[in-house]
Amino acid sequence: MNIALDDKKERLLKRLREQGIKDEDVLDVIAEIPREEFIAPFLRAQAYENAALPIESEQTISQPFVVAYMTQELRLEKTHKVLEIGTGSGYQAAILSKLCRRLFTVERHLPLYESATALFKKLRLYNITTLFGNGMRGWKEQQPFDRIMVTAAGEEIPDDLLYQLKDGGIMVIPVGAQDETQHIVRITRTGDDFDVKTLLPVKFVPLLSGIVHSSE
Ligand code: SAH
Repeated sequence: MNIALDDKKERLLKRLREQGIKDEDVLDVIAEIPREEFIAPFLRAQAYENAALPIESEQTISQPFVVAYMTQELRLEKTHKVLEIGTGSGYQAAILSKLCRRLFTVERHLPLYESATALFKKLRLYNITTLFGNGMRGWKEQQPFDRIMVTAAGEEIPDDLLYQLKDGGIMVIPVGAQDETQHIVRITRTGDDFDVKTLLPVKFVPLLSGIVHSSE
């Protein structure tokens, strides 16, 4: 890490605190994971700006504040088995993996799935397991999960995901159509009851079904 990048990281952490991120474990992990590894070389000078950035397949790596906020709202424990839908660059998965026991992540774009899988190996994030597929169906063989995070906006909350949560489990997901204001929503399962709490307004790429084999 060079000094310029270190300075920018310090500034970002200060900004996240100002924006209300209080969970010290989340802030420590943001400090630990090298965001520059998850973006294209020409964007690396912007790695610690509090902004979303473009990645392959016309997708985006979320703004650090949104990553920190959603992670904080998930209320992770070290013992948890967690599912993420929308691997993308792999950055959010890397953050989650440091705060739980095992992290499973699903991506529907093959090039993104492949590059994130290689990056997890390079960064020695051995508790992450990746899958190329449609995450709206969750991950049947690995369910149930203590926590689920979805990083693409669904017009509705997929039922399959709700029922792959453990009793007492929590899901954090952006909800809303592309042409309306989306909100991060936190859902807590108690038996077959799902308590839904609407949190921040956000802008996410869409949660789509089907799989895509190329970047065209
Ligand atoms: N967590 C990512 C954010 C990437 S953007 C990161 O930290 O970089 C959201 C991602 O969700 C995109 O890569 C998109 O292809 C993926 N996605 C959208 N719908 C999906 C689905 N049904 N199953 C799996 N991935 C999906």
